[in-house]
Amino acid sequence: MTYVVTEACIKCKYTDCVDVCPVDCFREGPNFLVIDPDECIDCTLCVAECPVEAIFSEDDVPVEQQHFTALNAELSKAWKPIIEKKEAPPDADDWAKVTEKLDKLER
Ligand code: SF4
Ligand code: SF4
Repeated sequence: MTYVVTEACIKCKYTDCVDVCPVDCFREGPNFLVIDPDECIDCTLCVAECPVEAIFSEDDVPVEQQHFTALNAELSKAWKPIIEKKEAPPDADDWAKVTEKLDKLER
Protein backbone atom coordinates (compact mmCIF):
# COMPACT_ATOMS: atom_id res chain seq x y z
CA MET A 1 0.00 0.00 0.00
CA THR A 2 1.07 3.60 -0.46
CA TYR A 3 0.14 7.03 0.80
CA VAL A 4 -1.11 9.69 -1.59
CA VAL A 5 -0.77 13.50 -1.65
CA THR A 6 -4.03 15.19 -2.70
CA GLU A 7 -5.34 18.55 -3.88
CA ALA A 8 -4.87 20.50 -0.63
CA CYS A 9 -1.09 20.48 -1.16
CA ILE A 10 -1.24 22.37 -4.47
CA LYS A 11 0.40 25.78 -4.04
CA CYS A 12 0.82 25.12 -0.27
CA LYS A 13 3.79 22.84 -0.35
CA TYR A 14 4.72 23.40 3.30
CA THR A 15 7.05 20.35 3.08
CA ASP A 16 6.68 19.43 6.77
CA CYS A 17 5.98 15.90 5.55
CA VAL A 18 9.39 15.53 3.95
CA ASP A 19 11.41 15.62 7.17
CA VAL A 20 9.64 12.65 8.76
CA CYS A 21 9.68 10.23 5.83
CA PRO A 22 12.16 7.45 6.69
CA VAL A 23 12.63 6.39 3.08
CA ASP A 24 12.72 9.81 1.33
CA CYS A 25 9.90 8.97 -1.04
CA PHE A 26 8.53 12.50 -1.59
CA ARG A 27 9.07 13.99 -5.04
CA GLU A 28 8.87 17.71 -5.75
CA GLY A 29 7.25 19.57 -8.61
CA PRO A 30 6.95 23.33 -9.11
CA ASN A 31 3.99 23.74 -6.73
CA PHE A 32 3.03 20.27 -5.46
CA LEU A 33 4.59 17.22 -3.84
CA VAL A 34 3.81 13.58 -4.56
CA ILE A 35 4.72 10.25 -2.96
CA ASP A 36 6.47 7.55 -4.99
CA PRO A 37 4.21 4.50 -4.51
CA ASP A 38 7.11 2.14 -5.20
CA GLU A 39 9.12 3.57 -2.29
CA CYS A 40 6.48 4.35 0.38
CA ILE A 41 6.62 1.81 3.22
CA ASP A 42 3.24 2.72 4.63
CA CYS A 43 4.62 4.03 7.94
CA THR A 44 1.88 6.73 8.32
CA LEU A 45 4.28 9.30 9.83
CA CYS A 46 3.70 11.97 7.19
CA VAL A 47 -0.09 12.11 7.66
CA ALA A 48 -0.03 13.95 10.99
CA GLU A 49 2.67 16.36 9.80
CA CYS A 50 0.68 17.88 6.96
CA PRO A 51 -0.97 21.13 8.12
CA VAL A 52 -3.62 20.94 5.39
CA GLU A 53 -4.41 17.22 5.79
CA ALA A 54 -3.47 16.49 2.18
CA ILE A 55 -2.08 12.99 2.75
CA PHE A 56 -4.21 9.85 2.80
CA SER A 57 -3.64 6.12 2.71
CA GLU A 58 -4.58 4.95 -0.79
CA ASP A 59 -7.50 3.05 0.71
CA ASP A 60 -8.86 6.20 2.35
CA VAL A 61 -8.49 8.79 -0.42
CA PRO A 62 -11.83 10.66 -0.59
CA VAL A 63 -13.92 9.73 -3.63
CA GLU A 64 -13.55 13.16 -5.25
CA GLN A 65 -9.75 12.98 -4.88
CA GLN A 66 -9.16 9.46 -6.17
CA HIS A 67 -7.54 10.61 -9.41
CA PHE A 68 -4.63 11.76 -7.25
CA THR A 69 -3.50 8.17 -6.70
CA ALA A 70 -2.62 7.80 -10.39
CA LEU A 71 -1.27 11.34 -10.48
CA ASN A 72 1.17 10.60 -7.63
CA ALA A 73 2.36 7.47 -9.45
CA GLU A 74 2.80 9.33 -12.73
CA LEU A 75 4.49 12.49 -11.44
CA SER A 76 6.77 10.64 -9.01
CA LYS A 77 8.53 9.13 -12.02
CA ALA A 78 9.14 12.56 -13.55
CA TRP A 79 9.98 14.67 -10.48
CA LYS A 80 13.13 14.73 -8.32
CA PRO A 81 13.35 13.65 -4.66
CA ILE A 82 13.02 16.27 -1.93
CA ILE A 83 14.66 15.18 1.31
CA GLU A 84 14.65 18.32 3.47
CA LYS A 85 11.96 20.75 4.51
CA LYS A 86 12.15 24.12 2.80
CA GLU A 87 10.34 27.41 3.18
CA ALA A 88 6.74 27.41 1.96
CA PRO A 89 5.68 29.81 -0.81
CA PRO A 90 4.79 33.26 0.61
CA ASP A 91 1.12 32.84 -0.33
CA ALA A 92 0.81 29.25 0.97
CA ASP A 93 -1.58 30.21 3.78
CA ASP A 94 -3.96 31.83 1.29
CA TRP A 95 -3.96 28.78 -0.99
CA ALA A 96 -4.49 26.45 1.99
CA LYS A 97 -8.08 27.73 2.18
CA VAL A 98 -8.81 26.99 -1.50
CA THR A 99 -10.31 23.55 -2.04
CA GLU A 100 -10.55 23.28 -5.84
CA LYS A 101 -7.19 24.07 -7.43
CA LEU A 102 -6.21 21.14 -9.64
CA ASP A 103 -6.11 23.56 -12.58
CA LYS A 104 -3.24 25.36 -10.79
CA LEU A 105 -1.02 22.27 -10.72
CA GLU A 106 2.22 22.89 -12.60
CA ARG A 107 4.07 19.92 -14.05
S1 SF4 B 1 3.06 18.82 4.42
FE1 SF4 B 1 1.18 18.65 3.19
S2 SF4 B 1 1.02 20.60 2.11
FE2 SF4 B 1 3.09 20.36 2.83
S3 SF4 B 1 4.20 19.47 1.13
FE3 SF4 B 1 3.58 17.84 2.48
S4 SF4 B 1 1.66 17.17 1.63
FE4 SF4 B 1 2.06 19.16 0.76
S1 SF4 C 1 3.71 6.85 4.77
FE1 SF4 C 1 5.82 6.89 5.56
S2 SF4 C 1 7.04 6.08 3.92
FE2 SF4 C 1 5.08 6.69 3.01
S3 SF4 C 1 5.37 8.78 2.34
FE3 SF4 C 1 4.55 8.90 4.39
S4 SF4 C 1 6.35 9.05 5.71
FE4 SF4 C 1 7.06 8.31 3.72
